[in-house]
Amino acid sequence: MTDTQTWQEAAGSDLTLNVGDRKAMFVRGEGAYLWDDADRRYLDFLAGIAVDALGHAHPAFVEAISAQAATLAHVSNYFATPPQLALAATLKRLAGTGPAGRVYFGNSGAEANEAAFKLARLHGGTERPRILALKDAFHGRTMGTLALTGKPYMQEPFLPMTPGVEFLDSTVEALEAALDDRVAALFVEPIKGEAGVVDLPEGYLEAARELTERHGALLIIDEIQTGAGRTGAWFAFQHAGITPDAITVAKGIGGGFPIGALVTFGTASDLFYPGTHGSTFGGNALGTAVAGAVLAEIERAGLVDNAADRGRQLREAIAAIDSPLIAGTRGRGLLIGVALQHPVAGAVTAAAQQHGLIVNAANDDTVRLAPPLNIGDVEIDEFVALFTAALHTVADALVLDATEETPA
Ligand SMILES: *Cc1c(COP(=O)(O)O)cnc(C)c1O
Repeated sequence: MTDTQTWQEAAGSDLTLNVGDRKAMFVRGEGAYLWDDADRRYLDFLAGIAVDALGHAHPAFVEAISAQAATLAHVSNYFATPPQLALAATLKRLAGTGPAGRVYFGNSGAEANEAAFKLARLHGGTERPRILALKDAFHGRTMGTLALTGKPYMQEPFLPMTPGVEFLDSTVEALEAALDDRVAALFVEPIKGEAGVVDLPEGYLEAARELTERHGALLIIDEIQTGAGRTGAWFAFQHAGITPDAITVAKGIGGGFPIGALVTFGTASDLFYPGTHGSTFGGNALGTAVAGAVLAEIERAGLVDNAADRGRQLREAIAAIDSPLIAGTRGRGLLIGVALQHPVAGAVTAAAQQHGLIVNAANDDTVRLAPPLNIGDVEIDEFVALFTAALHTVADALVLDATEETPA
């Protein structure tokens, strides 16, 4: 940005056009609050899309990143470091893999899912070329993870895709019909976040576990958005009481530091062998120290339970908002989709920002909430006031539109 340019001009001329106009420029954050370049304060109920689990500038995050940067940041994967081994052990414990579990580290959700895709191929070989995934689920933007993502409009400009992936309706019947002994793996997003916080049918994960096991296919659960305590369990699959073959994590585990991981269970842990995968940055001392500190703080402060309790409180508060626009809520814990009566999620999100609240339109008629896991009464009360104001702004505009359209 040059001295005379506005930030909008700089973003417009210098950043790749893969994203539309930036909605604001933020210069600092603290807890659940952000400040823009005009020093205006916002309540952040998006948390960088379920990333800033502890909110902004949390002392545990700042301390870990500073101390590790001053000690040892990176040595390559030819070598081990203490924070890397500690984080692998922690992820195994929290995911409940038992001793057989193993952890592969990457730097993002997509990298975690790329590793999972390769895991599926290693398991399937040429005997099992089929990979199943769910329509409308999101697994990433790289060519491999895009091939796993059941959204035709996202794939279309980049065809042809990596072959072998088939997309299913999210029903047990569709799964029963599709599974056979030529399937290497089933990928499941336990709550479809990008699709609008869409829950799976009751009992789906249990049925998926039983059916994949019967046919010798891996069950791979994408916990990138739902993991790290967000749904009121460390990982969403744990609500179903099943054991998958692998999970992928990213977003919340780094609390704002880019890190992702593939955690394998049981014999799926034996599939990779030397030379089959790797990443230069993946699992370096700096990133793993920060993620270790973030998970330790989530544990110390009881934030998994807080996500469950505050999620309930938030849902009840939303249900009590007197607005004709609200149709209901979806999701679990602190991953919430507020369903709207009209396709005005974009307008509600823009109005919310005007009122000092950051949320996101996951689709035309759903507002996504993914606040920091450590929010309390103060943040929830403020959210309700700001969100109610935003809804009224949009509802008033709709009424005005309707009145104007009525012939005199
Ligand atoms: C965000 C997300 C990804 C992709 O993660 P990136 O870090 O953006 O690569 C994959 N799966 C799910 C469920 C996600 O929410």
